[in-house]
Amino acid sequence: MPECSFHPGVETEVSCTECGRYICQKDMVSTPVGYKCPECAKPARSEYVLVKPRQLAGAVALGLLSGIGGGLVIGLVGFGFFFVALAWGALVGEATRRGSGGHRGPVIATVAGGSVVAGGLLGGLGLITIVFGVVGVVATVGWGWGR
Ligand SMILES: [Zn+2]
Ligand SMILES: [Zn+2]
Repeated sequence: MPECSFHPGVETEVSCTECGRYICQKDMVSTPVGYKCPECAKPARSEYVLVKPRQLAGAVALGLLSGIGGGLVIGLVGFGFFFVALAWGALVGEATRRGSGGHRGPVIATVAGGSVVAGGLLGGLGLITIVFGVVGVVATVGWGWGR
């Protein structure tokens, strides 16, 4: 078996999709085009995947606003039907995405999902409603890489 280019002595069969160097599990960076070594993954991460602090702040602000606002409204009105919760989650996801400047993916989904949970708890919503809200979030922004 070939050895890892970064850790001599560590055997691996995986190589970087960009430069072809062998990488072990410690070095693998999962990207949309496959596994890359840490060096090749760096520019891609900062350009496409990584959400910058200011974008994250915008995402958290809009996510919490729509999440808590929506949770309170649904709690007041008192209809936590699953499709209302789904629409609410989609709305929070979309607001979070816009707040971040158009990002998607795990980071944005986490922020939006957290906002839905926070809003749901504050609005006194049931667990099922909150779960459907989170499903709405994941369906809207859970996939994709920084787009
Ligand atoms: Zn590489
Ligand atoms: Zn290694």
